[in-house]
Amino acid sequence: MSPTIPILDLTTQYTALQEDVEAAALRVLRSGRYVLGPEVEALETELGEMLGIGHVVSCASGTDALCLSLRALDIGPGDEVLVPAFTFAAPAEAVALTGARPVFVDIDPDSFLVDPESCRNAITSRTRAAVVVHLYGRPADVSAVREAIGPDVAIVEDCAQSFGARTAGQATGTFGQIASFSFFPSKNLGGCGDGGAVATGDPELAARLRALRNHGSSQPYHHETLGLNSRLDELQAAILRVKLPHVAEWNEKRQRAAGRYTERLQKLDGIQPPADADGHVWHQYTLLSPQRDALQEQLAKDGIESRIYYPIPLHRQEAYAPWTNGVSLPAAEQVCDQCLSLPMFPELSPAQIEQICASLARAES
Ligand SMILES: *Cc1c(COP(=O)(O)O)cnc(C)c1O
Repeated sequence: MSPTIPILDLTTQYTALQEDVEAAALRVLRSGRYVLGPEVEALETELGEMLGIGHVVSCASGTDALCLSLRALDIGPGDEVLVPAFTFAAPAEAVALTGARPVFVDIDPDSFLVDPESCRNAITSRTRAAVVVHLYGRPADVSAVREAIGPDVAIVEDCAQSFGARTAGQATGTFGQIASFSFFPSKNLGGCGDGGAVATGDPELAARLRALRNHGSSQPYHHETLGLNSRLDELQAAILRVKLPHVAEWNEKRQRAAGRYTERLQKLDGIQPPADADGHVWHQYTLLSPQRDALQEQLAKDGIESRIYYPIPLHRQEAYAPWTNGVSLPAAEQVCDQCLSLPMFPELSPAQIEQICASLARAES
């Protein structure tokens, strides 16, 4: 039986934009241009204008965007890169794939974001970069991280969950040296397949990124560096261009839904609703509770889907054992034991939120 309230509903959004999305897709299919054509070029320009940054280079996924960013910064074997232990695994994966060492750092349990002090303590002479993840759509304090790590360590912003988020009017992805974005279907701006992009204000990094995503080649059949095949296709670019003008409105709807959740949930004992913050775009709405498993069980009984993002901190994952040295990161570990993400998408209605909160209240009593 499918849940009465899913964690994410992509069909409602598709139906609302169906005519425009299908017209864009047909335009590409009939054009005969499928890779690195006019749609990709236009999307990169539109993304740059929207973010307020000089260069956007699209690619095949958010994970590739991280790999390309690290490669553009010339990070590789012998280097160390700081990665928060509480996030989706892609940043750690990207660091390890370059041959560099991921060094896991702790989070602030109230914001779920990387803890600048933990970064400061992890710096060594080999530290080349720090990945700052704007987790769940909440803008991290990049200048606090900058202060903690000093001027010589590059900051890579992972904006996979924070598309459209701004602090004091400035978009996430424009604070560090380089920033990665994902257009995976579930993200705040999502395509109908995989996709990603890298943003930077530095023209030299941008030129390297363009070569790296296309076999290390800036001139056909001349390979200056070892690259990848990581390009966004025209079909995805055309679809993303239809959706881009709607993201601000969708993010406002997410903010209203989050406000409704918090107003209701702060009255329940044993549940800590997530803290609000300037510019938060609520990719996820994630609460903390020592009774997390009981809450999830009650929701499931009531036909409401929920997820644990994320159940295991990265320094406890099998794949990253070679780099962890048995480190202990208490905040990340505790949050993994207590976090629960509730349904969150722009079309989530007040009545649905009421139904979800009533179910959580039943579990509490
Ligand atoms: C989704 C995500 C990624 C990876 O993006 P893909 O497009 O799925 O490769 C990277 N980092 C974070 C924080 C994510 O949520």
